[in-house]
This record gives sequence, C-alpha cells and structure tokens, in this order.
Amino acid sequence: MVVLPAELTRESPPGGRQREIRFCCWDGDVYNAFLAQTGDVPGTVRGSLSWLGPSDALGPEEAGTPTDAVRVLAMRTEEEKGPGCAEDSAPVLRAFIRDGGTWHEVATQVVAAESELFSRSRGLLESDALSGKLVAHFGLGSVGASVAVLLAQSGVTNHAAVDGDRLEAGNMARHDAGLSHVGRLKTDYVAYRIREKNPYAHVEKYATAITGENLEDFRSVVRRSSLVVCSIDDREGKLLVNRLCLEEGKVCIFAGAFRRAYGGQVLRVIPGVSSCYQCFIRRLPEEADGLSSSRPGEGQHQQYTDRPTTIEPGLAVDIAPINAFAAKLCVQELLRGKETTLRSLDEDLVAHWYLYLNRRETDTQYEQLRPLGFGLDGLRILRWYGVSAERDPRCQACGDYLSILAGEHGIDLAELQDTEKADLPGLLDEPANDLPGTSDRAMG
Ligand SMILES: [Zn+2]
Repeated sequence: MVVLPAELTRESPPGGRQREIRFCCWDGDVYNAFLAQTGDVPGTVRGSLSWLGPSDALGPEEAGTPTDAVRVLAMRTEEEKGPGCAEDSAPVLRAFIRDGGTWHEVATQVVAAESELFSRSRGLLESDALSGKLVAHFGLGSVGASVAVLLAQSGVTNHAAVDGDRLEAGNMARHDAGLSHVGRLKTDYVAYRIREKNPYAHVEKYATAITGENLEDFRSVVRRSSLVVCSIDDREGKLLVNRLCLEEGKVCIFAGAFRRAYGGQVLRVIPGVSSCYQCFIRRLPEEADGLSSSRPGEGQHQQYTDRPTTIEPGLAVDIAPINAFAAKLCVQELLRGKETTLRSLDEDLVAHWYLYLNRRETDTQYEQLRPLGFGLDGLRILRWYGVSAERDPRCQACGDYLSILAGEHGIDLAELQDTEKADLPGLLDEPANDLPGTSDRAMG
C-alpha cells in the first residue's frame, strides 16, 4: 500500500510533471510518503510521483526508470475523483511497486490533510489552536521526548529540540524510542517521531547541550518560543534554561522523575509570578536533590533489583504519569487567552508545583504515608498534588537579592559601581551556592 498526504496529491509540482519523493519501507508492503525526510529512517527506498494529464496513458510500463522501486501515478480527470479527496480536482492515484523487474499495482490510501489530522480533538480544541506555536524542548530523555510527542499529537506544529546525547540501549526500557533507534541522536529521533504524528510539523534540531558557553546561542530560540519545556538531567542546565526564560519572559515547564522514579514533579515557572527553578532549589533542596539521574555511575546504589545496572532505573509506567501531566500543563499554557473547553481547567491548575508519588519509597519523607485505600484526605500515592511554592525574594535569578542583601548590611546600592554590585555577595561572605556551575545531583 502507498499512503499519501492529501496536500501532496492536490498540488501539481511546479515546473514539471514529475518529482521525486522518499518513501519509508518498514515491512515490505507499506510505503508511506508522509515520512518523506531524507536520511531520517533506515531502510528508506527511493520512489517518485508522476503527474499525468487526462490523455496520458496510465500504467506500470510508464512508471519510470528501472532504478525506481516505487512509483505513484496521479492522474486528473473530469469524471473521477481521487479516493478520500473531497475536492473535485483531486487526482486519481495508482501506485506500483517493482518486484523482480515486474511492476505490481498496489492499493493507495490518501491520508487526511493537515486540517483533518486532529479532527478527533475538535470540540476540545480548534484544529489550529496550537498551530504555529513554537515550543522549545531542552532535554529529550524519557520525559522530554514523550512530552514533545504528546504536544505534537495535541497539535503543536513548531518545535525546537535541544539535546546533545544519543540513544543508548540502556535507555530503551523507559524511553519512547525502541532498540532500532539506538545510536541515533535524540534530536533526530524526536524530530522523526513528531513528524510521524504530524508530517506538517517543523522541527529545529540542536544536537548540543545548553552550557554557560553557548547560552547566548539559545536566546533567540527561547525568544521565539511560546513555551519552553525543560527536562534536562543536570541542575546546571536547568538553571541556565531558567535564567534564559526569566530574562526573555517565557513560561517554562520543568518536568522530571525522582530517583528510581518513585515519583516526579512538574514545576511551572511564570516569570514575575511564580517561584522560579532557582527559588525552588533554594526553598526545597530535598525535593531538588531527590531527582533522579540518567547518568552512568550514579544509579548503582539506587537499584530496583539485584541485577547490576549502570544507569538510574525507572519504570516506564512510573514515568508516564509525569509526561502526561507535564504535557497537559503545556497545552493549558499554550491555550492561555483562547476560548476552549479546556479553559475550565484554569480553576484547577492554579498551583505552580505539582507532585506525584508512585509508591511509598523507603528512606524518603513519603515512606510513612497512609496507603491509598479508599481515602481522599491527606497526601497519598498515585495522585497529583498541587503544592504552593512561593517566590523567594532573595532568589538571585528572579528576586531582589542584591537590594535585600545590601539593606541587611546597611549598604546603599545606588552608590556602588556595577562591578562592586556583582562582587557584593562575595564581599559579604554570602555563599553563591545556587548559581550554575555548582555540583549537583541530576534528574532524567
Ligand atoms: Zn527565583
């Protein structure tokens, strides 16, 4: 079978009657022109689309050069309409696949146009409500990759994917990717997955981690974004993204699992309104440090089982709730100001920090929680909790830190030069332990 997007079949190629497109061949009998991204998928075979006028003969012999493995013929006629195409001008499609030198005709299927792809969201979302919005994804691990795909499924069309890592076999149990993608850049994988859900999506790929050195390279990405999602697995990266978002006035959703995925959290940072990530780790160091790691060597004393492991374990079923909630919060942010049925959720999602516990993990403050049972009172596992997380006025990223510090020591900031202001914390022996570059546990 050959699957073609409706848009492709409605437009004749400019300046010619034939153009080449790429088909993906997965199982030998389905060729999908949607995934027409060169080099994206192993096993891609070459195909071409020929446009014939009503008087042209239509048949496998005209299908093309012997080197073509797949050929789709499209013919416009006055009488016939293309299968699945609503417009009168839609072409008739016939597809041929060459097997051992002989062309065989195979079934064709025209897949919905962009406006119809998300028809099942109608009533909840206008099909284009999230179209044109750019979301920047920093970190494409088991949380970030899944959130990106969920947002693509929700109708977000523009994505910036930032991650310097490649997929490893050890990630597969909990990552969205399967073993056939081991070794690929996470940015390439996520771009492929997004386009698989929406072939009209646009994905910018940045195969590098954000650092203090390349911070400015990402400023324009953040500035152009409607929303930023951060699921980087180290604190320095998160602090850098936090700072960029504060400076550019962009809402950032931080999402991650606790160690061994005994729970997870989603933090929504609205500049000037809610606690920023730096406030969060100052006020709740235990929660910040309880975050899990996907880095080799840090997971060995945190195993689920007695089997050796080199990375932080975490079951996919324990991470899935975090991904889903983070994506939901993202959709709600992206719809801010738009009239949709989902607006009613604004009354529910008033907190900026959300906590979820998968189990009563030993050696944590949640060990003694009462079993879930039938109760609804008090903190229990397997439920989301919105928790108040106030801004810290002494926060060095979003607070009035220097003024407060100067006031405490009777210093008039107005009399200081900029360099003296920058040196003030050091001069007053204030530890700058919440700045990027300090050692930290990581999360994945
Ligand atoms: Zn802050």
